[in-house]
Amino acid sequence: MLRFLGACGTVTGSKFLLDAGSRRILIDCGVFQGSSELKEKNWTAPSFDARSLDAAVLTHAHIDHTGYLPRLGKAGFSGPVYVTPSTAGLLGYLLPDAAHLHEEDARYANQKGYSRHRPALPFFDANDAAAALALLRPIDFHERTELSPGLAFTFRRVGHILGAAFISFDADSRRIVFSGDIGQRDAPILKDPETPESADHLILESTYGDRLHPEGSPREKIGLAVRETVARRGVVLIPAFAVGRAQDVLYHLGSLQRDGTLPTNLPIYLDSPMAVSAADLYTSALSEHDLETEQLESRGVSPIEGPSVHLVRDRAESIALNGRGGPMVIVSASGMLTGGRILHHLKHRLPDPETTLLFVGFQAAGTLGRQVLDGAHEVRIHGESVPVRAEIREIPALSAHADQHGLVEWAGALTSPPRAVYLVHGEPPAREALAAAIRSKSGWNVVLPEEGQAIELE
Ligand code: ZN
Repeated sequence: MLRFLGACGTVTGSKFLLDAGSRRILIDCGVFQGSSELKEKNWTAPSFDARSLDAAVLTHAHIDHTGYLPRLGKAGFSGPVYVTPSTAGLLGYLLPDAAHLHEEDARYANQKGYSRHRPALPFFDANDAAAALALLRPIDFHERTELSPGLAFTFRRVGHILGAAFISFDADSRRIVFSGDIGQRDAPILKDPETPESADHLILESTYGDRLHPEGSPREKIGLAVRETVARRGVVLIPAFAVGRAQDVLYHLGSLQRDGTLPTNLPIYLDSPMAVSAADLYTSALSEHDLETEQLESRGVSPIEGPSVHLVRDRAESIALNGRGGPMVIVSASGMLTGGRILHHLKHRLPDPETTLLFVGFQAAGTLGRQVLDGAHEVRIHGESVPVRAEIREIPALSAHADQHGLVEWAGALTSPPRAVYLVHGEPPAREALAAAIRSKSGWNVVLPEEGQAIELE
């Protein structure tokens, strides 16, 4: 039996409960993000007894796949949480950072008295995050792990971000594959996604299920956007997920400087303490890199840091950037403008027509990023109204997600038809379009599960 507990008709809150043999396993343990209705759902108790869980297995470190873990611990779960070694490394930064943000939110709500909970409590705190980290059990890619007789799983590379995996479960005679988030082929740093050979049941993401990334090299497009902004002495603001996008963007900027497309003295600020920490992990996880990067390493050039990258750890240093004129590039989190240091940069730079706000990742419904991308002339940031006069550009081909073609191709690697493909992790138009594309290409049985739905896996 498989229960779909999140990421049904949205791109966040991934959680799937698998009952197989005598074991109960949670695959991914994410929080909902985006609209306030979605975020409110994080506070409802899990729909199952957390103490009845035998284990959790996580596809990758992003918070929409992992950020509920400390709550599950508070609800009584104490079993092992299986992850790849790099996912464990990233969570070591991500969960404590999330705890810090939750504690700040609660403090702020108590100060302003706007929460209906009195006192407002953090979603989880530093102790809860530490307790969750203590449950992690790193398992290498390709290493088959037996959970009970007749039930085993294996992680395989799926691109997307460092440590990201798709997971194959062998439960008696059935194979159940959870795709996690599927990266693009030929991304600059990480090795290409592997593909599943067989699956009886495939749980497939559909983030870009209704889109094709435009032709042309993302590297050239980023070069063009930055060059045009530099020519008018403007500031390029790049919102990026601290883990994944930020490192890819720096890689491209560095290579554009090295080949002379961009000036080598153009100041580039990586303004996200988490991204700075994650950059170190990226540099050291050599086994996950592809050849192109290894060649750079052997020449002694870091794949992440270009000649003029400044790492901004300090909050004061971040605010000081507001006083600086262009040209410069600021890469900062969060990627969907839902919080983080990018907000004060936006407040300061969005009203300026010389600024370019350059989107390089998916913008979910209900986020500030989506509003701006959809053409809002005015937005609210920290309760203030901010006019949008900056140039808004998007490079979807830089996304960490495969497009419709990539998803169909990835699933199409199966050597025989699955009994069913379940589409998750996509907004309604995206998963409907992907369902149509898979049905017309292969005639497979495609299911769009509703949140809370339980399906008997034959
Ligand atoms: Zn992800």
